[in-house]
Amino acid sequence: MDENINELISDLRTYLEYLKGMGITTLPVTENILEKVARSETATLAEVRKELGDCKRCKLHRTRKTIVFGEGNEKATLMFIGEGPGYDEDVQGRPFVGKAGQLLTKIIESINLSREEVYIANIIKCRPPQNRNPEPDEIESCSPFLMKQIRVIQPKIICALGTFSAQTLLKTDTKITALRGKLCDLEGIKVIPTYHPAFLLRNPERKRDVWEDMKKISDLLKSPQ
Ligand code: SF4
Repeated sequence: MDENINELISDLRTYLEYLKGMGITTLPVTENILEKVARSETATLAEVRKELGDCKRCKLHRTRKTIVFGEGNEKATLMFIGEGPGYDEDVQGRPFVGKAGQLLTKIIESINLSREEVYIANIIKCRPPQNRNPEPDEIESCSPFLMKQIRVIQPKIICALGTFSAQTLLKTDTKITALRGKLCDLEGIKVIPTYHPAFLLRNPERKRDVWEDMKKISDLLKSPQ
């Protein structure tokens, strides 16, 4: 929750109590309205999707087949964020459904969770031509919607998959080899970067590293804080 909104609500409550003390009992502002203010930016994923619409905010709309919004549990405690849709994702409109997606499913299941229990999204929602890296203007146009999704879901932990996701979320140039497994922060949410499943398909010897990162994530999910 945004600190400014909390502060605003606290001030409003104090003011309402003051008026009540003065004998003013009928007010145009109700508790319900205050609660709506509290939820104002963090509405629902459906509302974020509606706002995104048939997005043409960046040039990727020209070559995409489908917008890959993200999928999973709106109340997930764990969120996975990859780079962007590939061929299979573009065709199906779902994140991580190709070979790398099948490996991600196994990674999720390795800590006794299912795809339905977590939320899966990408930094950008449309496939770049020839799976090239997303460009800065594309990220700038698209990432505000990912941030809205994160604020709606408020996961306990975000697992950033791969260099691109980790560097974008954490606003750093540090390489994934140095970031991997480190506990980082995004707006008060714990972020743990790990290798992208597509990288693991090419470098299976790194699976052990990811397994260690997933164990760390699992332990953090179980911890009270
Ligand atoms: S990548 Fe994002 S900003 Fe660009 S067209 Fe697709 S949904 Fe819109």
